[in-house]
Amino acid sequence: MDYMISATIEGQPIRLFAADTTEMIRESQKIHGTSPTASAALGRTMTAVAMMTMMLKSEKDKITAQIKGDGIAENILVVGNVKGELKADIYNPDIYIPLKENGKLDVSSAIGKGTLTIIKDLGLKHPYIGTVEIVSGEIAEDFTYYFMASEQVPSVVALGVLVNPDGSIEKAGGFIIQLLPGYSENLIEHIEKRITEVSSITILLEEGKSLEEILLLLFDGYNVSFAEEKLVKYYCDCNKDRFERGLISLGSEEIKMIIEEQEKAEIKCHFCGKEYMFYKEDLEELLK
Ligand SMILES: [Zn+2]
Repeated sequence: MDYMISATIEGQPIRLFAADTTEMIRESQKIHGTSPTASAALGRTMTAVAMMTMMLKSEKDKITAQIKGDGIAENILVVGNVKGELKADIYNPDIYIPLKENGKLDVSSAIGKGTLTIIKDLGLKHPYIGTVEIVSGEIAEDFTYYFMASEQVPSVVALGVLVNPDGSIEKAGGFIIQLLPGYSENLIEHIEKRITEVSSITILLEEGKSLEEILLLLFDGYNVSFAEEKLVKYYCDCNKDRFERGLISLGSEEIKMIIEEQEKAEIKCHFCGKEYMFYKEDLEELLK
């Protein structure tokens, strides 16, 4: 079962997050039928949002990440809540572009140039919205840039989706390291050194390491103190009522036209693929 953890280090102004999102990305791959490159693009974004839900505090808080790029993936949308439930959508799940020279999936070409927007709905009158330029398109660097530019928190973001040759998901996960005011040069040096020395998150998960072991490996010699542990999963909260409200918002003229021309309306949820059917009687009911 997928899970996430958060941790601190005794005496250091730092916070750590790590997530194993393998099952969630497998579910997402099945729902959207994503190609390997699309799985990596969507899976990395979902893994980042998953860990960001650990930064939320109240029961109703939500976080949305929106990537709008001029690459063929076009739009990516991921929504997560404080319970660790995520849903996601990618405009073009069927991306096939050649691998990069190092044999890796070319996510940055799939994304292209554009913007990353983070919307935090914290139950206040207005949500917090931060938009940054896409700096690399590899997703992790883009979240790193977002944390620095929009939240002024120096961070290291590592995200990985290991895709099998047949397109299935082998492993997915990530970690986020955030430095808080008052950090020392020694700490930065340690992080920079360990990031290059330690294998990638998906390799470590593949080796059977737990998230706790991975953080201890990154911060060997430090006193890591584990805080929260949370489950994370793909979950869509759609229901017929929501789509009914959507239809009503089209206005009565539009609904009359649907009845006249198509007699029924079939609406498919972008996040989970579930289909909702509104027959003539249902539509007429909406006009009352
Ligand atoms: Zn749905």
